[in-house]
Amino acid sequence: MIIAVDGPAGAGKSTVSKILAQRLGFLYIDTGAMYRALTLKALEDNTDLKDEEKVIELVSSISIDLINNPDGSLKVLLDGRDVSRLIREPRITKSVSDIAKIKGVREKMLILQRGLGLKNNAVLDGRDIGTVVFPNADKKFYIDANFKERVRRRYKELKEMGQEVTEEDIDKDLRNRDTIDSTRKIAPLRKADDAVLIDTTDMTIEEVANKMFEIIDNG
Ligand code: C5P
Repeated sequence: MIIAVDGPAGAGKSTVSKILAQRLGFLYIDTGAMYRALTLKALEDNTDLKDEEKVIELVSSISIDLINNPDGSLKVLLDGRDVSRLIREPRITKSVSDIAKIKGVREKMLILQRGLGLKNNAVLDGRDIGTVVFPNADKKFYIDANFKERVRRRYKELKEMGQEVTEEDIDKDLRNRDTIDSTRKIAPLRKADDAVLIDTTDMTIEEVANKMFEIIDNG
């Protein structure tokens, strides 16, 4: 069974996807983490991010593994190295959408993500899961929240991770990524026609997870 969870950053997608996967005993696949791991590799190798050929070469040469920890958290391995924290750094967040809009990069990620999903019952979260990666997913959700609330949540999350950020930084980052992610030519961020839209602005994570459960349970 495949559950697709799409939506913009800060809407609560990854938190509820983790809860859902843990309760269902499914694999949690954070597809954003895969784009982030590639971005880290590109920055470490001083690859010119505008050189699409080089970036595509890079994506074919690395291995990205996602390990679900028993407590529900996620470990991201890049060529066997734990990069779970590094991929959340602002320098990665700043560049990831430019890498994710490259056609050859998306083609490779699509193969990896489909391979993972076909072998497992899985909850996948991202931007194009219900529209492109698994258009026949058993259940599709589109998780959204108003912009101000998304900024507030991201700010809180990054502060808790110990990052020195301001709400202004987050505002800028979300605006920038929303624009690039939703206007790119390939697999732009969009609600699938058959996805259930959940506006989480005034909801707690528990309420969102319960609502998703109810929908899954009712077939
Ligand atoms: O989910 P997260 O915010 O970590 O994703 C980081 C970036 O990766 C997004 O802003 C987007 O550019 C890209 N992404 C994507 N397609 C996905 C998941 C993430 O383009 N399925």
